[in-house]
Order: sequence, then C-alpha cells, then structure tokens
Amino acid sequence: MDCIFCKIASKAIPSNLVYEDDQIVAFRDNDPQAPTHILIIPHQHIATINELDTANNALISHMILTATKLAKDLSLSDDGYRLVWNCNRQGGQAVFHIHLHLLGGRRMQWPPG
Ligand code: 5GP
Ligand code: ZN
Repeated sequence: MDCIFCKIASKAIPSNLVYEDDQIVAFRDNDPQAPTHILIIPHQHIATINELDTANNALISHMILTATKLAKDLSLSDDGYRLVWNCNRQGGQAVFHIHLHLLGGRRMQWPPG
C-alpha cells in the first residue's frame, strides 16, 4: 500500500519523531500551521475516522491522551491548544491514514476555515 503515514510509522521514510510506542507514532508536521504542529497516528492503517468503531476505543483514547500529554510536556496546556481530526474532502483530509493534529503556540481562530 502506498501510504505516506504507513511509511513514516514503519521508518521507511524519516520524520521528526516526538513520541512512539507499539500502537502510535507522533511526529512534527512538515508544513506546520502553528508554532507547534504535531501529528499523532496509529501504526495500523485506517483510512478515515469513518472507519472507526468500538473496537478502536482504546486506540483513540490513547491517541487523545498522548496528545494531551505532549501538550503538557510542551507547556501548551495552560494557554490552550487545538486537536483536529479532518475527515474526507470537505473536512480537509489530504492524507488517508487517520491522524490527530495537535496545534498550539498561537491564538486559534473560530470558526475554523
Ligand atoms: P490532513 O489535511 O490530511 O488532515 O493533514 C495532513 C497533514 O500531513 C498536513 O498537515 C501535512 O502538512 C502533513 N504531511 C503530509 N505529508 C507529510 C510528510 O511526509 N511528513 C510530515 N511530517 N507531514 C506530512
Ligand atoms: Zn497508512
């Protein structure tokens, strides 16, 4: 399968890793939209969040809690930050391997673009 995030997760291509375990990988976005922009992905290839079901409860919880831990470690927690899941074309998804964006270090806009 020709998936850029599978290749990053397996180290077939390099990335700026910030966290890794047997379930997930976190790395810096190569086109950051904020001073801190990290992507948290599962090793498992799942194309969109539409494919998630209760079998993935532990994985999704782990992704979110890793994002909040990274936010704390990077001193973003008090000022605040944003977690984003984009889904399919209208949601702005460009890479079809699920990923949680952690964005911080600047004031976010609402509504999002
Ligand atoms: P999406 O629009 O699918 O929610 O977000 C995909 C994100 O992946 C974008 O923010 C984009 O900059 C990032 N991205 C795409 N390809 C690569 C890559 O090869 N390396 C890294 N580090 N980030 C990537
Ligand atoms: Zn993949």
